[in-house]
Amino acid sequence: MVAAEKQKIAEFLDIAGDFLGSGYRSEPKEYQFNDEVSSPAKNGSDSLEQIAAEVKACRNCSLCQKRLNAAPGEGVNQPLVMVIGEGPGEDEDKQGRPFVGKAGQLLDKMLDSIGLSRAQNCFIANVVKCRPPGNRDPFPEETQSCAGFLDRQITLLKPRFILIAGRIAAQTLLKTSEPVGKLRGRFIDIENNGVKIPAIATYHPAALLRNEDYKRPAWEDLKLLKSRIDN
Ligand code: URA
Repeated sequence: MVAAEKQKIAEFLDIAGDFLGSGYRSEPKEYQFNDEVSSPAKNGSDSLEQIAAEVKACRNCSLCQKRLNAAPGEGVNQPLVMVIGEGPGEDEDKQGRPFVGKAGQLLDKMLDSIGLSRAQNCFIANVVKCRPPGNRDPFPEETQSCAGFLDRQITLLKPRFILIAGRIAAQTLLKTSEPVGKLRGRFIDIENNGVKIPAIATYHPAALLRNEDYKRPAWEDLKLLKSRIDN
């Protein structure tokens, strides 16, 4: 937040205080606020670069055996929204970047429709960083072995909101076996290092490509996220 924004909030609070107290407006006060400089994504000695390096060298589960490239994640630091999907597919495995195939292109369009992008205000990651062979669902032991990376990314990035894409990510992050249809349409807090982050689950863009019926509810979820951001 920049100093001018802080000054406006302080003025508003002063006016509200005057109104509730004496009913008269007192002399406007000038405060000495500083702009907040967004710090690089560092936490002690941890950093996004460190996590990416560990992900690329990781041999903690069998997914490392067939991967071409791990896809640690990409986007801005301290994002407005962190998008978390399931895991790399064929295109992501080739490029070592998340959501770059057909589903990723749709995801980019969905984000764009509510003013979001990985270049400006989002960070995109997955619950597993290496491609499950043949795009099968990751096994629980694989999501578990990758969970530490995602936790550390969330801690460093400090996203304001989390958008969860698809069943595997939703069930992993929300620690449930409920289907996405039951989890979507509302905010559920995700706790990371004692901080609660409002998260909303929706259908995976790949599911929207397979089944048009998911488009309307996914759009409703995006609108809900947008209205929460705007408020
Ligand atoms: N599907 C995902 O869940 N993540 C990707 O990065 C690509 C496709």
